Amino acid sequence: MRLTRLFLLTTGLLLSLVTALLLRSVWADWRHVDAAELGLAAMQRAYLDMKVAEKASAERGPAIPVLNDTEPPDPAKRARLEDFRRNSDAAFDQALAALAGSTDPASVSARAQLDQARAELARARVEVDRVAALPHAERSAPGQRITRAPIDQMFAVIDTVQSAVTTQSAAAEAVYPELAMPLVGARYAAELREYAGRLGSQFTTPLATQQPLGHEDEREIAVLTGRIEQLHKLISLQARVSRAGAALQAAIATMDARYFGTDLPFVRELTERGLSGQPYGMDSAAFVGRYVPPMKTIVELRDTLFAAARDAATARVAQARRDMAINAALGLTVLCIELAVFLLIRHRVLLPLLRGTQAMNTIMDGRGLPSDHLPPATRGDEIGDMQRAVAALRDATLRRRTLEAEREQLIAQLRVASDTDFLTGLPNRRAFAEQAARLLAQGRRHGWPLALLVFDLDHFKRINDLHGHPAGDAVLRAVAEQARGQVRQGELLARHGGEEFIILAVDCAPDAAGQLAERLRRTLADATIMLPGEASLRVTASFGLACTEARALADLEDLYRDADRALYRAKAEGRDRVCRSETLFKVLS
Ligand code: GH3
Ligand code: MG
Ligand code: MG
Repeated sequence: MRLTRLFLLTTGLLLSLVTALLLRSVWADWRHVDAAELGLAAMQRAYLDMKVAEKASAERGPAIPVLNDTEPPDPAKRARLEDFRRNSDAAFDQALAALAGSTDPASVSARAQLDQARAELARARVEVDRVAALPHAERSAPGQRITRAPIDQMFAVIDTVQSAVTTQSAAAEAVYPELAMPLVGARYAAELREYAGRLGSQFTTPLATQQPLGHEDEREIAVLTGRIEQLHKLISLQARVSRAGAALQAAIATMDARYFGTDLPFVRELTERGLSGQPYGMDSAAFVGRYVPPMKTIVELRDTLFAAARDAATARVAQARRDMAINAALGLTVLCIELAVFLLIRHRVLLPLLRGTQAMNTIMDGRGLPSDHLPPATRGDEIGDMQRAVAALRDATLRRRTLEAEREQLIAQLRVASDTDFLTGLPNRRAFAEQAARLLAQGRRHGWPLALLVFDLDHFKRINDLHGHPAGDAVLRAVAEQARGQVRQGELLARHGGEEFIILAVDCAPDAAGQLAERLRRTLADATIMLPGEASLRVTASFGLACTEARALADLEDLYRDADRALYRAKAEGRDRVCRSETLFKVLS
């Protein structure tokens, strides 16, 4: 597998794994936060339910004077009862509003319990109003317990509300087992407040009517006092077990002093008087004024316990949120670092390596030089070393190729120089022999006729002698120029040596060859050649022509010999003329 592919795969895999771990951790943290928030909400709803119990319980206080009212009824007592009823209703509204939209089982059952309690309270109120409307004589007959029935119904309401409190509190305890002590303690305190209220209720009617307590009253008072003592012990035990804080200790101490130290002995004394038929020495209002205020210390203890639980739960929620934020931040940091490392490796190692390899391949393939692709090798690390090595390789290759190109150029120049006559620029004898061999082969393939024309300047030695060697050179150049103007495609012109020139014409019939020779002879004879300086002269040349079929020719030398012989004849016959080789013309004709 290619390194880049392997790197991409491992990178992808690692990033996916870290992302999965991060998501998993955030999800778990979020669940934790969510549970903590739900627990806190359940705790707060339990508190609202306790408030319902407190308010519904308090509603009994003003209900009793209304039930025992003389005729005509006192509007102030009725107004006070209505006030308390509104308070209860407001507490119910608040508790039910806090449950709106919650679908967890605890909330659903708490809502059902509160609805039931509200219905029970409504029925109890109807009963209170019905009994209060009866004639006073009927209500106040000795031994008559007619006014107790609506109050008992109101007790039942509190029992139902307490179930809702227990349901919500249990939901909170499930989330915060360590907060069970303050939560259970708060519940005990709420119950204690209820029983303390009920104990007080036992006295309001006998005091309003100034009647002694009966056996029924005595039994109920004993039961209530027993429960109150029991709850007191439980709360003290809970506080001791959980090593309660200073605020809680203070709240318990205040309750012990005020309710258990003052109220309860006072109730015992009043019970003894009521049972022995002694006068109570106070009316119902005076009793309420003395008994009820210390009961507030129980509610304060309940609130202190609840506040301790709520503060701890709020801290837990905040801690869970902090944990989630820290974990998410740490996870994201790891992810970012990982990504940065991968990008760094890719950019600092992998890509330079890839480019270096490509550059080396390009150099080795000879496709070109990767000058554009090479980054500046400024790095001091191993990759920098590699880049410098590649750059050195490229430079060496560049130098080698430049040298090669120069050598090729030189060879080409040498080839041209070795093939070209220095003076006239025409192919020299050697080049002629080479090119003529190729043309002859071509002629043989096609079965063409060939013509070889040799011409030599007449009395050239004299020109040298008369005008000097440079003038002779100028004449040679001029003659070459004139001859070049007369040859066509397929006709090879060369300087054969000294003042002798040669033309090989392929695919050229004897007549056309004769015409070429004659045309060239005339051109030279007619031309005025300018010499260096003002002088000018005319030259003539003698031509020897030999023609044959290319396929009939074994060696070009044979044809040259014939042409040379004809040239010799042309010289001998008086120069400035064209002579043809007799033998070969005979063969052809
Ligand atoms: P003919 O008509 O019989 O050919 O007489 P000719 O004088 O032309 O022939 P000859 O062979 O006696 O002389 C040729 C001369 O050409 C001799 C040589 O000095 C001269 N020559 C040969 N090559 C060059 C050259 O490159 N430059 C010059 N200026 N003279 C050359
Ligand atoms: Mg000659
Ligand atoms: Mg000559």
